[in-house]
Order: sequence, then structure tokens, then C-alpha cells
Amino acid sequence: MSQSEILREYLQQYFGHDDFRLGQRQVVESILQGENVLAVFPTGSGKSLCYQLPAIMLPGITLVISPLISLMKDQVDQLSQRGIPSTFISSILSEEELLKRMHDLRQGKYKVIYIAPERFYSEGFIDALKGLHVSFVAVDEAHCISQWGHSFRPAYLRIKDLIEQVGSPIVGAFTATANRRVQEDIVRLLGLKEYRLFVSGFDRPNLEFRIEMPRDKQEFVLKFVKKNLGKPGIIYAATRKTVEDLYSLLINRGIPAGMYHAGLSSQDRVIAQDDFTRGKTTVMVATNAFGMGIDKSDIRYIIHYNMPRSLEHYYQEVGRAGRDGKLASCILLYSEEDYHLNRALININYPSVALVESVYNRVLEAGDKGIALDVLLKGNISKQILHSAVRKLIEYNYVKLKSGVIYPFLSGRKFELTQEEIDQHKKVELEKLDKMVEYCLSKRCLRCNILEYFNEEPTFTKCGSCSVCGLAADGTKRKFIDDLLKGILNVNAQTHVSNTEETGEADAALLDVLKRVRERIAQKTGVPRQAVFDDSTLERMAALKPVTRKQLFKIDAGIEQRKVELFADEFLLEIHRYLRKKTIV
Ligand code: ADP
Ligand code: ZN
Repeated sequence: MSQSEILREYLQQYFGHDDFRLGQRQVVESILQGENVLAVFPTGSGKSLCYQLPAIMLPGITLVISPLISLMKDQVDQLSQRGIPSTFISSILSEEELLKRMHDLRQGKYKVIYIAPERFYSEGFIDALKGLHVSFVAVDEAHCISQWGHSFRPAYLRIKDLIEQVGSPIVGAFTATANRRVQEDIVRLLGLKEYRLFVSGFDRPNLEFRIEMPRDKQEFVLKFVKKNLGKPGIIYAATRKTVEDLYSLLINRGIPAGMYHAGLSSQDRVIAQDDFTRGKTTVMVATNAFGMGIDKSDIRYIIHYNMPRSLEHYYQEVGRAGRDGKLASCILLYSEEDYHLNRALININYPSVALVESVYNRVLEAGDKGIALDVLLKGNISKQILHSAVRKLIEYNYVKLKSGVIYPFLSGRKFELTQEEIDQHKKVELEKLDKMVEYCLSKRCLRCNILEYFNEEPTFTKCGSCSVCGLAADGTKRKFIDDLLKGILNVNAQTHVSNTEETGEADAALLDVLKRVRERIAQKTGVPRQAVFDDSTLERMAALKPVTRKQLFKIDAGIEQRKVELFADEFLLEIHRYLRKKTIV
């Protein structure tokens, strides 16, 4: 039998599948040949098979590292049913059960062992492994190792050490979302010197992508929903308030809509989801709290009423459309306000160190009695900001939360957190937001943009079903967007090549606008005009017309260091407004 026949045989015997899906065979073959791999395949594409099959075929033991406890348990059950001795080690086990499993492990009773990274050091786990032959380590949800990913887990940083300690076996890393930067992090932080990269299957050809910039978003939604009455669709909005407003708008027009956000009771949420899944309501208005694990394959459209904060979020959310393979529309309603809204939402998550310290002092004063969270959250400052301060304290082990009461973690622990530490992740989030804006304003095929963001090389330059390439279905034209983009994209192209050289003439009308903004800021804050932005910076701004922070910082690297970001926003907003006014007739 040839190698490929053998693989097929195993596939059928152990998994009951007739054939491999795109990419699976290549990954499995690589691993069997002893190569490290990094596979970036979307959710649902069958990543687990890529490590389970080699685990069965390779001699020795396979370790699967995963943060998802329910997944571990399911997979262990499945493997056991198929006659593969396997187990998992996670925090849900009782002390007794843990000891038993460690005993069996030392005896070499298991072929596949799942473990949560937080558990590496439990009960001599690593020592036990040293006495055995580990031939393969599979790292699931590998993006968790990167600060640039969307769910960083510090415990993942220990995996490299584990790999070395168990004799540097073959390593396979698997994830559904990793842009180029995250991919680099994964490889570096796992210590892989050589590896093969597989990225595939991100394209969803039956989804069409549209960016729209209607003057009146509500009107747009109403019109669209009415035109598509009876077709199931989701409208995502950024805040609960917007969800509620949109919901009333639709209901008042007799449209069978449902609503879903985290502020509703769990009972209401279950009912809303159920009604939607069963087709009692056809439109769901929701925050991004909605959608995880919904089982509905015929969603025909997804409207983003507000721009999400990253392409990862966006692509995950639109990925719920058209699971049946039939055409579905993904429409993003862009407006510059969304950029600022998102910035504000991100900022709220990163409180000032002074506030965090003062909250900590209050908790210390309360001492062992603790202080109720509700009491703590009362004050002049917004509840959300206080909440984020408390979250930071919990995250860094300064305080602990038990049944609604906050206690010091260790009595009298000195406060040493710095602003830098608090803000560590903020920069990443802001950069992702910039990328999102760039996507919305891009003049290149949107599908190509998405694929490249996830590091998959598109096989085309125009997909023919996005609002840049032109839409096959309803031929929507976006002339005014194109006009708008003319200005902006010329700017984009230039800022890439030039940091310091002169780049074209300042737009006199825009320069006037910018000077007025500067005046306003100077008046308001008492900061001298030239210290806000000097004339030459304003002139360059008027020439280059930056619309994202990143582009702005390219004009003058000093801007970022001078901490004039707050001013920067006001300028960006004005440039945005200016460009829009100029191009919409
Ligand atoms: P991922 O981890 O990539 O999100 P899973 O490994 O959970 O995806 O697989 C998703 C589904 O696809 C599972 O139900 C699995 O049984 C199925 N599947 C995987 N590989 C194949 C295949 N080659 N043929 C048919 N079904 C498959
Ligand atoms: Zn396209």
C-alpha cells in the first residue's frame, strides 16, 4: 500500500471520513515526515484531525495542549471510543483523579494526553513525561501565545520550555486566526527553527463583501431589511443602546425582529435565539455577544451597523452567514464616528495607573472585611472605567473577587503596576483598529484584503463579488465612495514610501480647517498653538490627509512620543469630515 492509501485507510477506520479536506493531507504528511508545522485553517475546517491522525500513527505519546476544557473532554471521549487510550489533565479534575491519571501516565497507559497549559507544573507532570517517549506536541489555539493575537494567555509562553524538556519532539501549531505577525510570534515563541506553514481555506466564495457609507444608517437598514423580508439576517451593533433603538425601529414597522445583548436576562436571550433559529423572527439585532455556536445555516445577510474593532472580529462575525454554501451578503456600514467610538471603547479598558492605585488603596483600607464591588463602583467616575480598574487589579493579583466582594490578594502588597504594563495591549488593539479602517477605505478587492490579512495568498486580484470589484448580484454602485477614496488612497500610497520628504502641496482649504482646529484646542486647553502642532506639521497633514493614527504618526514620529494623541483624534476627525464633504455631491 502506498502512503496515501495507508492514510485513507486510517482516516476511514478511525474517523469514518471518506476523504481529506483541503489542506489536511498535506499537514498530516508533513508531521509524519518529522516536520514542524504551523497550520492556520478556519474554524470548522477540521484542524483536530490534523493532529489526531498523526497522534495515532506516530510511535510514542502525543501531547495536545489546549485551553478549551470542554473540547479536551469531548475529544478524549471520542478517541477512547475509537480505542485510543487517552486522557486530559485540567483544573476541573479532583485531587484524587489527578493523582490517578498521573500514576497511569507514568505507567505509559496513554497514547494521547490533553493538557491545559496552566497545568504543566502539576504533580510532576513534566518529570513523568521525561521517562516516556513523547514524539509529537500539538498546540491548539496557538495564537494564544502572542500578544498580537486576540486572546493572549501568558501560560502559553511556557510551552517552549516544555517542548525542550520532553526532548524536542515534532511540534504542530494550529489556529483559526493568525495574521502574519501572530504567525511569526507563534513560531518564535515555540522555538521552532524550521517549520512548514499551511494557510488555507479562508475564502468563503459565497459571501459578498460590501462597505457602505450611507448618510442615514437607520434608513439604509430599514430599506435593506424590507427588501429582503423573509430572509434570515443578523444586524450587529456596537452598543446595547443602539441594538435597542434598531430593534424598536424594526418592530414599529412590523418587521419580525428579535434582539440579543448581554444586558438581557438569560431567559430572554434563550428565547430570542430560539425564535431566530426556528424562523419565528427573521432579523436578529444584536451585539457581538450573539452568534457563538448558533446553529443556523441559511443566514442570508449580516449587516454591521458599526465597524468592529478588528478584522478578526469582523471575519468571525460574518463567518456565520451562508453556511449552506448559498449566496449571502456581508455589509459594513462605515462612518468615521465608529472609529472614535471604538477608540473610546478600547480606552475605557485601559484606566490610568493613578486610578487603579487609588482603587487599590480603598481595598487595602477595607482590609480583610473586603469591600462590595457595588460600593466600590459608586463614585464620580464612570462605572465602566472603575470596572476596568478593578479588572486590572484582579488580573495582576492585587485583589480578588469573591461573591461580589473585593479583598486584598495579599495583605499590604505594595502597588507596583506601571502605566506601561496597563497599556501593553492597548497599542495592539489600536493598531488593529487602524487596519480595520484601512480595510473599509481600501480601493483594492475587499476579499483580497481579507485573505492577505490572514496571510493567505489570493489566487486572483478581483473577486467580482465585493463592493470594490463590483457586485454580481444587485450591481450596487459606489461611485461616491470611489470618489472619496481617490483622495485618501493617493495619500496611502505616498505615506508608505515617504516619511520625511516633502510629499505634495498642502490643500489650502484643509489647512485652514486644521488651523481652526488647532486654535480651538489651544483655547480649550491653554497649550500654546505651536506646541499642539507646529505649522510645518499642519502643512504636511493638509498635504497627506491622514485618516488613521498610523498614517498620522508617519508624518511626524514625534507626535506619538509627545503624547498628543488626544489632539490627534480631533484632527483626524476633521480630515475625515473634510474629505467626505468634498466628495459627496
Ligand atoms: P476545527 O478544529 O478546525 O474548528 P474540527 O476539527 O472540530 O474543526 O472539525 C469540524 C468538523 O469537521 C467535525 O465535525 C469533523 O468531524 C469534521 N471533519 C473533519 N475532517 C473531515 C473530513 N476529512 N471529512 C469530513 N468531515 C470532517
Ligand atoms: Zn473583490
